[in-house]
Amino acid sequence: MKIVIQREKIAVMAALLLICFSATAQDFSLLRERMVRDQIEARGITHEPTLNAVRSVERHLFVPPERRNMAYDDGPLPIGHGQTISQPLIVAYMTELVNPEPHHTVLEIGTGSGYQAAILAEIVERVFTIEIIPELGNSARELIDDLGYENIEVKIADGYYGWEEHGPFDAIVVTAAAENIPPPLVRQLKDGGRMVIPVGSPFMVQTLMLVERRGDRVLTQSLMPVNFVPFTRGGR
Ligand code: SAH
Repeated sequence: MKIVIQREKIAVMAALLLICFSATAQDFSLLRERMVRDQIEARGITHEPTLNAVRSVERHLFVPPERRNMAYDDGPLPIGHGQTISQPLIVAYMTELVNPEPHHTVLEIGTGSGYQAAILAEIVERVFTIEIIPELGNSARELIDDLGYENIEVKIADGYYGWEEHGPFDAIVVTAAAENIPPPLVRQLKDGGRMVIPVGSPFMVQTLMLVERRGDRVLTQSLMPVNFVPFTRGGR
């Protein structure tokens, strides 16, 4: 008799756990849908592949567990080591800006959590991403592997020099604010390629810039004021 009751108890507890777990998963997908609708589509992002990517990548997996409930909020979040995962709108905007296409190879500087790399990897053929803080790069690599992305490669290095052996790139996305546009990155852009990069000093408002290479000409365009963590140099 005792055993039967205990078995029932266990069954009830298991059922409750299952309900909690699926409720949480559903909450996250609901929050994600709302994020896309209210923060991203409502502010003018129309590029379908970008919208599909932000709809499908589980952003809550890219933030520290204690901040999961804020993963779909309208702002950046700390990810440790003084760094942040960018605001969802900024990630979507930067993705849309480089016109990613399925056959593209993209370079990202500043892997951080790996979220921007995952968004790009949903759209393009290959993503190369460089992170200067080894702990962040390694944990992003682990998560990316766990999630099954086979088209992302993470390197721990100073992204200033780009990743020459895999270039030139169709697009480059820089997610830390540099004082100047690094010349090696411009050289690694394909003809017709686009780079998006926040430029400016870390303690002032920076400007998001679009850099386009057209033959020997490099066109730059200032887009909007932004606030990114600094582009650091030289490794640690
Ligand atoms: N794209 C990230 C945002 C990370 S914040 C995401 O989706 O989560 C910017 C990142 O750039 C930080 O992790 C920081 O360590 C890294 N970074 C700063 N300077 C760098 C450099 N010179 N080379 C590579 N990464 C750099």
